[in-house]
Amino acid sequence: MGVGINYQLPGDFKNMEWFFDSSLFGNGYSWIFPHRKTVSIGTYAGSNIVSARQLKENLIKWAADTKHIDLSQVKVSADYVNFDFRGWKFDNFFLAGDAAGLASGLTGEGIYPAILSGEMIARYILDPGRSLDEFFRLLKKHRLHRNMAVFTGKNRFIAQILSELILTGLRCSILKFHTVEMASSSACR
Ligand SMILES: Cc1cc2nc3c(=O)[nH]c(=O)nc-3n(C[C@H](O)[C@H](O)[C@H](O)COP(=O)(O)OP(=O)(O)OC[C@H]3O[C@@H](n4cnc5c(N)ncnc54)[C@H](O)[C@@H]3O)c2cc1C
Repeated sequence: MGVGINYQLPGDFKNMEWFFDSSLFGNGYSWIFPHRKTVSIGTYAGSNIVSARQLKENLIKWAADTKHIDLSQVKVSADYVNFDFRGWKFDNFFLAGDAAGLASGLTGEGIYPAILSGEMIARYILDPGRSLDEFFRLLKKHRLHRNMAVFTGKNRFIAQILSELILTGLRCSILKFHTVEMASSSACR
């Protein structure tokens, strides 16, 4: 499981920002995502490397120290993010989204896998002969993210090195953004 923690507060922020610091956020990250009149400030990390309580404390401290934002009085919301995928079809029972453990263990991104798996399962029920290639591509990427989450979850040093390598790859355009997110470009319709 991963843990996601979110604070939604009023604010006019322009840039979407991600922060990687393994001493605070383990193999995860914190974010500042501007909305129209509010901002989401939160964090995601593997629960085996940093506990939910510690992650929350680290986020509050980080926001105060580096962004001068006091989150301590803001209402928090949090949940586990399930990436323990064991299958989607069990006789005539089907699991999609978080229920199936289809979120990314690496990024906590689970909206796209939930929508795609729901759509694919509905199609399968209507026509079991129809191609599920898009779903299988998602499952392949999920496995890669899961393996990386397990690997980086072993040790904060490994987590920091890997995040630096990925960020360098993205900055130099060696890595495309869609290679590290669950939603692949071909699937963004
Ligand atoms: C703090 C945080 C931030 C996140 N940020 C992102 C992000 O930026 N991008 C992203 O892609 N993902 C993000 N995620 C992950 C994402 O929210 C989930 O992966 C996604 O919502 C899973 O969708 P789902 O439909 O499978 O499950 P859910 O969104 O959990 O929906 C399940 C629904 O079923 C309902 N339900 C449960 N039991 C029953 C029942 N017995 N009867 C009827 N209804 C029931 C629940 O109330 C719920 O509404 C975040 C998660 C957290 C915790």
